[in-house]
Amino acid sequence: MKRSIIYPGTFDPITNGHIDLIERSLKLFDQVLIAIAESNKKSPLFNLEDRIKMVEKVFTNDKRVSVQGFSKLLVDFAKENNIFTVLRGLRAISDFEHEFQLAGMYKNLSPKIETIFLMPSQEYTYLSASMVREIASLKGDVAQFVPKPVAEELTKIYQ
Ligand code: ADP
Repeated sequence: MKRSIIYPGTFDPITNGHIDLIERSLKLFDQVLIAIAESNKKSPLFNLEDRIKMVEKVFTNDKRVSVQGFSKLLVDFAKENNIFTVLRGLRAISDFEHEFQLAGMYKNLSPKIETIFLMPSQEYTYLSASMVREIASLKGDVAQFVPKPVAEELTKIYQ
């Protein structure tokens, strides 16, 4: 049986830090389902459809990676897909409290769910989608932080 993991997040937009984590998880799992939360409450810069498209472009040739949007409880979405392992990233101690709370809540809502944390390569520990959005909005160069299709979309918005 194939081992699958679900990687939920807002991915507004996907960054090289997210990609680093996905590549790491593929050393441990056969398939990764990137689950993009609609997250309307966060007023994302990119709508769900565009966030999905950008991730699809990055992983077009990799059959081990799939992408879906969702707008319900993650544990319900995970169950529907028959995946019970969740991937989250830890960059710094500052991530820990929020991630600890989330993982605890998933466990409460669905005891079968296990959350696995991976750390990115050191060069990505300071990288976040919000920082990328801010740099792009100030017309800074984000080419080293995001894959090409994302840099292109950001340029379209802020050029
Ligand atoms: P969310 O709104 O769920 O936090 P994000 O897209 O910001 O959505 O993040 C999804 C997950 O990816 C989180 O667990 C976050 O800690 C992790 N993550 C984000 N950026 C990085 C990075 N540079 N390195 C490692 N993990 C990251």
